[in-house]
Amino acid sequence: SRKIITTEETEEDKKIEGTLRPRYLKEYIGQEKIKSTLKIFIDAAKTRGEALDHVLFYGPPGLGKTTLCGIIANEMGVNLKVTSGPAIEKPGEMAAILNNLQEGDVLFVDEIHRLNRQVEEVLYPAMEDFAIDIMLGKDSAARSIRLELPRFTLVGATTRAGLLTAPLRDRFGVIQRLEFYSPEELCVIVKRSAKVMGVEIQEEGAWEIARRSRGTPRLANRLLKRVRDFAQVKYDGVITKAVADFALDILDVDRLGLDNNDRTILLTMIQKFGGGPVGLETLAASIGEDSGTLEDVYEPYLLMNGLINRTPRGRVATEAAYVHLGIPADGGEA
Ligand code: ADP
Repeated sequence: SRKIITTEETEEDKKIEGTLRPRYLKEYIGQEKIKSTLKIFIDAAKTRGEALDHVLFYGPPGLGKTTLCGIIANEMGVNLKVTSGPAIEKPGEMAAILNNLQEGDVLFVDEIHRLNRQVEEVLYPAMEDFAIDIMLGKDSAARSIRLELPRFTLVGATTRAGLLTAPLRDRFGVIQRLEFYSPEELCVIVKRSAKVMGVEIQEEGAWEIARRSRGTPRLANRLLKRVRDFAQVKYDGVITKAVADFALDILDVDRLGLDNNDRTILLTMIQKFGGGPVGLETLAASIGEDSGTLEDVYEPYLLMNGLINRTPRGRVATEAAYVHLGIPADGGEA
């Protein structure tokens, strides 16, 4: 179940991906504030016949940052080039990508906080002046020449805006944070995806999947696929509440959408650290997880559900966490 609930993309995700991904703003469910902001910027840029301002999206994985970037390119009617922070190692590689863009194109840089410093510095003049400075020669003979670029739009995505350096962050005209989706919104997404996949689903079935999806469309789609498999084998292919319940229980996704990893985090805090406060690094080490993943992937959902709190001295499990796990709040030795 560890792999089922992970928010990273699997091979299967990528295959169905193309068909489930909304292509225009009107198909994109939720994130109303972002949609209305983008609509204004897009309309204004189109009216002026200019490229859209650079945009930074941040928030936990699977909430629709990549999807929004594709939508921007479609709405603007321009090409989309996709790359990622870890994929570009040398300044020259970034310069080549930029140099190949056409007027108005959108360049998507996923995990933009992982660009190394030298590569990042190529972006500063590119974003600000639509130019790159190329160094010729070495040492005292070194001189730089300036190469003009077409006007383009950089769309960056990251899990936390705070991971970006200030000079990079300052060069984005639009910075938007993605929020977790409500069960109501996820229910609409699940029904839409079921329709695209040609699966019959009942309202209560969709609702059950929605509320167990950790506020995350990518997980909602993934759970939908798993539940569909159960439905096909056991229930004439129709997704009812009973099938959804049955399948999701087997997959160890609980009523709050927590998976084994989430529960391990809470249990460790309660049983090993007396409910906290416990420092992020200490907690990460004792569950064998990277502290960045703990902070960016697991914590936001636990915080949103009021299961943990962040205090100056560390993380604390709340009463709601004890209640959810069925542990009495005094001892933890239930
Ligand atoms: P991120 O880039 O934030 O990790 P993605 O854009 O890859 O997330 O979204 C993951 C999947 O979730 C998409 O392929 C898409 O099918 C679905 N999805 C994301 N946001 C929405 C939305 N607002 N409406 C419908 N489906 C969505």
